[in-house]
Amino acid sequence: MMNKSENLFHVEIMRGIFLISSLCTSPTTEGSSLAPGNPTGNAYLVVGKERALLFDLAVNEAGMREYTQELAGKPVQLVLSHGHPDHTYFLSEFSDVWMHLADEKLIRDGMMGMPPVTPCPTIHSLQDGDTLDLGDRVLDVFNIPGHTPGSILLLDRQSKVLLSGDTCARRLLYGMTDFVPLHVFCESLRRLQAQDFDVIYSAHDRCALPKAYLEHMIQWITHDLPHTKEEWSFPGLGKMARLVHGDPYSLRYFDMVVPLRYMNVSNLVT
Ligand SMILES: [Zn+2]
Repeated sequence: MMNKSENLFHVEIMRGIFLISSLCTSPTTEGSSLAPGNPTGNAYLVVGKERALLFDLAVNEAGMREYTQELAGKPVQLVLSHGHPDHTYFLSEFSDVWMHLADEKLIRDGMMGMPPVTPCPTIHSLQDGDTLDLGDRVLDVFNIPGHTPGSILLLDRQSKVLLSGDTCARRLLYGMTDFVPLHVFCESLRRLQAQDFDVIYSAHDRCALPKAYLEHMIQWITHDLPHTKEEWSFPGLGKMARLVHGDPYSLRYFDMVVPLRYMNVSNLVT
């Protein structure tokens, strides 16, 4: 079929939840591997009785709209975890998108030299505390600023899966757009910990992280980050402080960067 990418594939990671990714971005040498490893780009399709929900366009392949509609066999609602360009590939294929409006300008204006999305779909607002009802399954929306101001996570009550975007992830690029003090971010992670779920799936890893990973994140950010001496820089981002823990092929890996200018006591967890 025209336009349909041959590189897209999907895996049902939980009943009615599909991880969709590209064979071209694999964590290991095997294209469809779900192992921890190198960064990938994933989208998640959650299928309910009435409709389905597609979380993120973090797969750099055309044809996601067709692919997911065919897979779900019902209308697909597109939700973005945040507005970064590596989460909005081929967004123009869609007529409507739901996201937190704090990230709207990232899409409308473009960022880091990336052009704005044109034509831009109609943007609908999602906020912390909202629920998305797919018929027989309900997802809770959490807004946790840190990676971006409008970063959201979805919790599927039925399968006890947290879809975390780039917020609870083994690689965390922190505070590039606006800066939220790290103690505030950790308080948000604590709030998540109080929710009922078992596993976390993020946008750039295909492996499931156990809920306990949240506690590790909090501990690394609290105790290890303030002492890190490693620095990292990337064109356009300026100098960053970097904390690396473990190796990418283990679940306990953590790689976090924070703009160096924010590494002062008032922003860190004390
Ligand atoms: Zn991002």
